[in-house]
Amino acid sequence: MEENIEQFDLTIIGASLAGNYLCYLLSKTNLKIVVIEEHKEVGLPFQCAGIISQKLSKLINLPNKLILNRVNIAKIISPSGSFIKLSGADQPYIIDRIALDRFYYDKVKNKKNISYYLGEKFKSFKYVRHNHIKFLLIETSKRKLKSKFLVGCDGPLSLVAKSFGIKNKTIPAIQIRINANFNEDEAVMYFDPRWKELFGWIVPEGNKIYRIGMACSKNLKKNFRIFLKKLRINLAHRIDQQGGLIPYSIMNKLAFDNVLLLGDSACQVKATTGGGIIMLLTAAKYAAICIQTCFKIKKFTKSFIKKYYEIPCKSTIGKELKIHYLIRVVLKDFNDKDFARLFQIVKTSKIENLVSFYGDMDFPKSFIFKLIKNPLVIPFLIKHTLKHPNIFIKILKILNK
Ligand SMILES: Cc1cc2nc3c(=O)[nH]c(=O)nc-3n(C[C@H](O)[C@H](O)[C@H](O)COP(=O)(O)OP(=O)(O)OC[C@H]3O[C@@H](n4cnc5c(N)ncnc54)[C@H](O)[C@@H]3O)c2cc1C
Repeated sequence: MEENIEQFDLTIIGASLAGNYLCYLLSKTNLKIVVIEEHKEVGLPFQCAGIISQKLSKLINLPNKLILNRVNIAKIISPSGSFIKLSGADQPYIIDRIALDRFYYDKVKNKKNISYYLGEKFKSFKYVRHNHIKFLLIETSKRKLKSKFLVGCDGPLSLVAKSFGIKNKTIPAIQIRINANFNEDEAVMYFDPRWKELFGWIVPEGNKIYRIGMACSKNLKKNFRIFLKKLRINLAHRIDQQGGLIPYSIMNKLAFDNVLLLGDSACQVKATTGGGIIMLLTAAKYAAICIQTCFKIKKFTKSFIKKYYEIPCKSTIGKELKIHYLIRVVLKDFNDKDFARLFQIVKTSKIENLVSFYGDMDFPKSFIFKLIKNPLVIPFLIKHTLKHPNIFIKILKILNK
């Protein structure tokens, strides 16, 4: 073992929201922490629509300056143009995502026990033993360092996850910001079989600026042009443009010897909306408790990390993420008529004002419960599943995971 290399208790890869928030949660401990980020500036590139349910302010102390707008209505538009407007009690936030990432970074960056190495890429790690104790020897583009614990907050293409043979399934997304004249009180979702894995979105940032985006696995650029044409938006007038990848599946395995995964690297993202922020903030709290317990008890085995991190995550957000994926599997085969029928059921059951798309969809069990109270929903779903028997097989596979 090289003696002159830097030593840390905890190494976090990725200084986006998951990495910075976890670092903040642990900043008051006496752990020596390093965060490694391949980009030179925290918060960039910006890759988010920034719409988050009201639960955000229950999870964190959300400063007003990070809130750009709030919306009352989620308008869901079918391929034929019919729509429903969901407007329950939740008023989701439209946040300044760059500022949110920097908010936690600014809180911890000058602390004595914390180092940020920006513009530096994590490359690999290996397990080493020193005086019979297991450590990680981590290699970045600039140095080698020794660490007792490693957290992969390195996003959808996580190299930390790949070290354990985990490769996230992802969907590419594109977004522009543009001045336009839509309703500033509505977030809009356009469903269409051409972009069936997710939807096209309009998110009002405030001051007549809108975030217009789409995620789909095939022909993204072409479909986005079709979408913009439908909205009568000229791409040339955009303020700026973003792109990114959205992990798309159920939650990964999270625990390994001396290592855990958090955020997009762990696929802690809702397959129905592509939203990951509520999930990763929830998981980060479990991760922080787990890491402190590991150092207190001096135990860093996979089974210990599983007990204090993976199992609590699985029994809370993991279950919900599975339901999101199940909903997505069912929606994927929806055609025009299916959407029209479902919208009709929602309208006749008069739940438009009771269901809040963003609030209820964080934890969709309540959303489903409100839907299936309507006696028409179950026969509709049975009929749909019988028409597409492959759904049934997929559902069984997901439930068995
Ligand atoms: C277009 C788009 C719109 C979205 N809209 C919403 C939304 O409206 N609401 C919502 O809740 N969620 C949304 N999401 C999802 C949300 O942005 C993610 O869930 C969230 O950013 C995940 O945070 P993270 O810290 O886990 O990963 P990331 O934000 O992906 O950050 C990973 C970090 O790791 C760094 N990194 C990666 N590899 C390395 C390496 N080898 N070495 C060093 N550093 C590395 C990256 O540079 C990056 O800073 C959206 C995502 C996209 C792409």
